[in-house]
Amino acid sequence: MNSYERFFSRAALARKPSPIRVLTKIQMASGPEMISLAGGMPNGAMFPISGLTMQVDGCEIQLSQAQLATALQYSRVDGTKFCASDGIINTSLGLPSFLHHLNSIRTQYHGQSSFSENIDTCVSTGSQNGLEMLLGSLLNEGDGILTDDPMYPGTKAILRPLGASIIPIKTDGDGMDTNDLEAQINRYKDSHKLKVIMTVANGGNPTGSTLSLERRHRLLQLAHENDLLVVEDDPYYFLQFDGEQLPSLFELDWNSSNSFKRVIRSDSFSKIISAGIRIGWITGPKEVIGKLELATQCSTLHCPSITQVICAELFNKWGMEGFAEHIAKVKDFYRNRRNFLVAAAEKHLGDLAEWDVPKGGLFLWIKLKGIDDTSALIEQKARKANVLLCPGSYFAVDENAPNSYCRVAFSVASEEQMDEAMRRLAELIKTELEN
Ligand code: PMP
Repeated sequence: MNSYERFFSRAALARKPSPIRVLTKIQMASGPEMISLAGGMPNGAMFPISGLTMQVDGCEIQLSQAQLATALQYSRVDGTKFCASDGIINTSLGLPSFLHHLNSIRTQYHGQSSFSENIDTCVSTGSQNGLEMLLGSLLNEGDGILTDDPMYPGTKAILRPLGASIIPIKTDGDGMDTNDLEAQINRYKDSHKLKVIMTVANGGNPTGSTLSLERRHRLLQLAHENDLLVVEDDPYYFLQFDGEQLPSLFELDWNSSNSFKRVIRSDSFSKIISAGIRIGWITGPKEVIGKLELATQCSTLHCPSITQVICAELFNKWGMEGFAEHIAKVKDFYRNRRNFLVAAAEKHLGDLAEWDVPKGGLFLWIKLKGIDDTSALIEQKARKANVLLCPGSYFAVDENAPNSYCRVAFSVASEEQMDEAMRRLAELIKTELEN
C-alpha cells in the first residue's frame, strides 16, 4: 500500500524510459576518456547567440559563457548534483542549478519535512503543462476527480479529453466546502473509482477565495480516510493579501506523521516573475514525479533551458531574501488594485450585486442580484458597451446551467478603466432589471 501504483493511469504505466538516458549515465560515470558518438545534441558552436544580458532591480546581469552554453543546449547536467528519482542524474526534471533554488523555496515556505528524501520536483513549461502531465498520469477515463466548482477552465480543458468524471464541490469565501466534499465522496465512492481531490487553495480562479485552515485539515483527513490523492494547484500562493499566510496542504501533509503522503503541489512563476518565461513545477512523492519525468520526455523533452538558467541567475542574485522582497512588492501592488476594484464595485454596484472580498489572486467574483443567467448580459450587452468580462458559466463544471456570476480581473486595467467598467456594468444591470 505504500506504492502509488494504484493511482497511475494506463498511459503513465505504459511509458518507458529512453535507453539513450542510460548511455548518458554510462558516459558520465566513465569520465572524459570515453568518446561519445551516441548523443543527439547539436553542436553549440553553430548557435548564433553569443551573449545574454538582463537588467534586474536596476543592475545588469550578464550570463557567463558556461551558463549561456547550458541555456542554449538541450537540458544536461550543469555541474550541480541535485536530485535523481532513480539514481541517474536526470535533467528532464529540470537543471540541477535551478532545481536547487526551487528546493530552497520549498523548505523556506513549506517547511522542513522529515520525509524530504521522498520528495522530488519536476520543472514544467508553465504549470499548465505540469498539471496536464500530472492529471494525465493519474486519471483514466471514468476515474473520479473532486474539484472546486467554479473551477479554473484550464483544468477543465485538461480533464475533458481524459474522460475523467469531474465531481463538482461547492465553494464559498473560505474555499472548497468540506461538508459537501464529504457528502460527494460518500455519494460517489461506490459507483466511481475516486482518485483525486483538486483545489486552488489560495486566491482561487475565479473566486479569489482561500481555503480556511480548518477546512485544510478536514480536506486532508477526508483524503486520508478515503485513500485519495490531493492536487494542490497554487499559482497564487504568493498573492495572499490579508492576514497570515496559511500553511499549504503540502506543508500540512508532508510535515504530518502519516507515512503515506497524499499531496502533490503545483507552483508557477507566471504571476510573480514572468508569464512568458513559462516556468511551473510539480512537487510530490518521488514515484509520482518519476512518472512526470517520463511524461516530460514524450512531450516537451524538458522545460526550456534558457528560462531555467535566467531564473537560476535571478535567484543567485536575489537569494531567498531578495526573492521575499520582490514578493512583498508584487503583493502590495495587487492588494492595492484589489482594494481599488472592490471600492469601485461598492460605489457603482451597491445593492445590485454581491461578492466576497477576494483574499488573494487576481479576480473579483461578482454575483449579479436578480439576474439568473449573466451570459447574454456579459457576452452581448456588456461587449456592446465596450466592457469585456467573463460570464460565470465559463468556470462552472456544468457550463449549461444558468449562472448569475461574472469574473472581473483587477490585474492589468488602469484604475480609471476599472471604475468606468463598474459604472457601465451597473447601468447595464439596471436596464436589465427594468425590462
Ligand atoms: N492554475 C490556475 C488556477 C491558473 O489560474 C493558471 C493560469 N491562469 C494556471 C494554473 C496556469 O498557469 P501557468 O501555466 O502560466 O503557470
